[in-house]
Amino acid sequence: MNVFISGGGIAGLTLALKLLQNNINVTVVEKNAKPSPKYKGELLQPKSIEILSHLGLGDQLLKYGEKIEQMIVKEIEPTHQVKYAKWDYRILDHSFNYAMMIPHEKLKEILLDACHQLNDHFYFGDTKFITLEPEGTGLKQVAVIEQAGEEKRIPSDFFVGAEGRMSPVRQTLGIGLKRKKYNHHFLTVSFPKPSQLKEATIITKGDQLLGVFPLPNDLVRTVLLIKSGEYKQLLRSGLDTLHQRYIDLMPAMDGFVQSVDSFKKIQLMIPVNHHAETYVFENTAIIGDAAHSVHPIAGEGMNLAIQDSDVLGELLTWMDRTNQLDPTLLRWFERVRRPRVEYISNLSHLSALVYSYDFALWRKFRMQVLQRIEKNSYLHFKQILNISGLGAWKENMFDRLMQAGFPLAQHLGPSFNQKEHFYTKEDDYPWY
Ligand SMILES: Cc1cc2nc3c(=O)[nH]c(=O)nc-3n(C[C@H](O)[C@H](O)[C@H](O)COP(=O)(O)OP(=O)(O)OC[C@H]3O[C@@H](n4cnc5c(N)ncnc54)[C@H](O)[C@@H]3O)c2cc1C
Repeated sequence: MNVFISGGGIAGLTLALKLLQNNINVTVVEKNAKPSPKYKGELLQPKSIEILSHLGLGDQLLKYGEKIEQMIVKEIEPTHQVKYAKWDYRILDHSFNYAMMIPHEKLKEILLDACHQLNDHFYFGDTKFITLEPEGTGLKQVAVIEQAGEEKRIPSDFFVGAEGRMSPVRQTLGIGLKRKKYNHHFLTVSFPKPSQLKEATIITKGDQLLGVFPLPNDLVRTVLLIKSGEYKQLLRSGLDTLHQRYIDLMPAMDGFVQSVDSFKKIQLMIPVNHHAETYVFENTAIIGDAAHSVHPIAGEGMNLAIQDSDVLGELLTWMDRTNQLDPTLLRWFERVRRPRVEYISNLSHLSALVYSYDFALWRKFRMQVLQRIEKNSYLHFKQILNISGLGAWKENMFDRLMQAGFPLAQHLGPSFNQKEHFYTKEDDYPWY
């Protein structure tokens, strides 16, 4: 079997590694010649760590990543009183009960090195996918690429669009998108970490929100929420105003945030939520951000890309081993992934809405809900399970009542067996 992958991001490289490990011929084209300095997702959720560990990268992740076991959410009230809730991945009775921060380009480098150890000739950087063209009769297609100013044609059995949000494969196939919009943007920058900062923390005060996530090498990734259109105003006010905003939200940043000495070091992030109408068309599939992009607040984008690659890679491997090249089998990929992506996308969207409104009563209610989730092991487990990717257990009316503090509901917490709610091999790969 030959598989052509357009885009050498996290999705494309994870898929390539899985296929190469299973002796499938892979060609990856990547339009960039060298690593991009742009910030992209860095948070690995437990399911992604499990997948990458099964691909043999566990030691490298531990070497270059920073383990995250807890997430703290703090609210600074107008009285300056600080309320907080703690969520803990260790509530999961699972060997991958932690998340991890790893620089995006480092993870790509690790994946690319692992691929190169298996095949030195699969990857073409500085090479752009242009379009798909029919060849002969039937489904046979060729990918048209541009390399060093020349157009070339690459025939393949299967084609995968993994080129991120603007995916030319998706556009070539005419697959439409459903979109949602947000009333806010983010500024993101990393700088040296104050020593007292140990845990991933989200701090809110009035209409302000700052997320801080420890990175390896004593750095910290920060994500600051701003209103749409506020960026230009901040540019005019100057860096001191911005530094002060960080310090107001987290005094420990004083003496550290000042190392951001130019707006050029700061990246403006505009949240995008889109979902493709289909992931599969004949012998072509789209994965990662090409198929779906989610609001970054829950740190899921890169994880959905890795999880797509795992499922598609396993399916193609099975098709190759059993000598079944029937493209309709690709539908299994969409059958497994679409409901999971829809669920996570919706969770990320709801989390974004929770922080999109700024009324005193709403803020108070928001913190009370977070604290009730922390204190109730059933709600806490559900929350962490759902973001971890290791399983899904949808919220119901009963949960909402407990979150809202309905008095009787507090005493009627259901007993549950964690093991029943983790995905099994049959859930992940149901075609076997
Ligand atoms: C600015 C930004 C901030 C983000 N922040 C977060 C975050 O905080 N948390 C989170 O979880 N996720 C975040 N994400 C999302 C996360 O980065 C993506 O979900 C993840 O990178 C998806 O991986 P991918 O491989 O599908 O796409 P990408 O990472 O976009 O990779 C696509 C690759 O395809 C290449 N390509 C594009 N066009 C072509 C072509 N014609 N031919 C060949 N190659 C091509 C690109 O150069 C790129 O290398 C962010 C994304 C962006 C853009």
